[in-house]
Amino acid sequence: IPFIEYIPAADTDYANKRKRTLAQKALEKIKVNLGKTYLPYINGEYVETDKYLDSVNPSRNTELIGKVGQISIEQAEQAMVAAKNAFTAWKNTSVKERAIIIDKAADLMEQQRHELNAWICLEVGKIIPQADAEVTEAIDFCRYYAREMMALDDGYNYDVAGENNRYFYQPKGIAVVISPWNFPFAIATGMTVAALVPGNCTLLKPAANSSIIAAKITEILIEAGIPKGVFQYVPGKGSQVGNYLVEHKDTHVIVFTGSREVGCNIYAQAAQLQPGQKHLKRVIAEMGGKNAIIVDESADLDQAVVGVVQSAFGYTGQKCSACSRVIVAAPIYDIFLKRLVEATKSLNVGATDDPSIQVGPVIDASAKEKILQYITIGKQESQLALEVSVPEGGYYVSPTIFSNVAADATIAQEEIFGPVLAVIKADNFDQALTIANSTDYALTGGLYSRTPSRIDRAYRDFEVGNLYINRTITGAIVDRQPFGGFKLSGVGSKAGGPDYLLQFLDPRVVTENI
Ligand code: NAP
Repeated sequence: IPFIEYIPAADTDYANKRKRTLAQKALEKIKVNLGKTYLPYINGEYVETDKYLDSVNPSRNTELIGKVGQISIEQAEQAMVAAKNAFTAWKNTSVKERAIIIDKAADLMEQQRHELNAWICLEVGKIIPQADAEVTEAIDFCRYYAREMMALDDGYNYDVAGENNRYFYQPKGIAVVISPWNFPFAIATGMTVAALVPGNCTLLKPAANSSIIAAKITEILIEAGIPKGVFQYVPGKGSQVGNYLVEHKDTHVIVFTGSREVGCNIYAQAAQLQPGQKHLKRVIAEMGGKNAIIVDESADLDQAVVGVVQSAFGYTGQKCSACSRVIVAAPIYDIFLKRLVEATKSLNVGATDDPSIQVGPVIDASAKEKILQYITIGKQESQLALEVSVPEGGYYVSPTIFSNVAADATIAQEEIFGPVLAVIKADNFDQALTIANSTDYALTGGLYSRTPSRIDRAYRDFEVGNLYINRTITGAIVDRQPFGGFKLSGVGSKAGGPDYLLQFLDPRVVTENI
């Protein structure tokens, strides 16, 4: 295919009745296919396992989505050997051929969009329009990285009279991708194809709670023509299989997105040289956030209330980019809080395959328990402004708002990863910024203001990887808002941006005296 410019994919327009019917039909089709078994894919074959893990629908936790074969350590080793064996041929495959496979995967995702949306909706409890945005993002990652790699492949020439100097890139080797459940399709796809297209052989270890969606990514890559051993799907327990692959002497790159605790451990482990290891491992770790939106007294409150509600309660607060603190200027604090509570009350909580639902369940029983513990702490250290009753039968937690929260309170400092919002009062803009910057994290942030000097100040001093002014703080788009944080939110690289692929490559220079 000719490599035309990168063009982003479009989300489905559900205002269109035909599209709504397609979404409904896909859900019906998936529902008659529940309960199947999904196997790991190692060295070009699906392999049997001794252990299986059930994946259930968080909206109705008695509904089995499927069973997933869990690999043993021996099978992890077989996958590593297969990856090593496949590396030379994949490295020597032209960038264009590799890019064509990844582009084909994007086309297949577009063709299967409604079914993929349905799987995401049922396996991780995401409403259909948000599942759809994830599929769009995955398609964009494929097409964008394919084209970025084509451009990088040109390298640089620094020739002078009598001497040729060529600067070029080569793949690092074996990449281990460890993905989270909260963007089970987009993030797992993005990290995987970013490793593959530069020429690395790649093992995908998905989160336990979203392993069937990762099996769908596997089916797509196989259909797109990924060669044997180049990509392998290795579901298994993070603390065993994940850990084994992180420590393995033949791993070159670890691409992780998940919690701070696991990310920091991986970073430390990867730094330990193993017997026989002849390189240093690269770790790309994208971790948590404690994201704040500042609303000042010049803000358009109609816009701010809607933006905060969407940012805080979209996907039940389980986005790394979600707003979990809103810092409000004292003069508008009371009116803003009142409107925020009223707007949040109007959200429908329930099963995500019902199109009238806006807030679904949280991912599993232990997440629910952890969030409820934070709500208990919140009730002790601040004032409860909203808690509603929720349906039974799934892992539901009420959208919850706390007011008069101290900037250093537990619920204002720790990542809760659920539908819990802390409202904090600030006496002036300086104080608001200080509060916003007072956590260990620096992922996303937002400002609602119509005062240019404050907007300028936020550009400079609001310490986050992705700052959004007068809009929601979630939903970054590939090649428009390259995404990622610093401080304890991550290593600072930006997924969907121009620097990302460089992390999967070793640059070389060859000088020829002529
Ligand atoms: P998690 O518990 O850290 O799990 C992430 C992945 O790590 C899973 O595949 C997990 O496998 C694996 N894992 C667990 N222990 C491991 C170990 N000892 N060695 C190697 N791998 C191990 O995180 P999560 O609950 O899935 O995701 C939520 C977190 O991700 C939140 O903190 C959120 O902010 C963050 N996040 C950040 C970004 C970003 O771009 N910055 C994006 C999305 C999410 P198992 O499932 O088998 O345990």
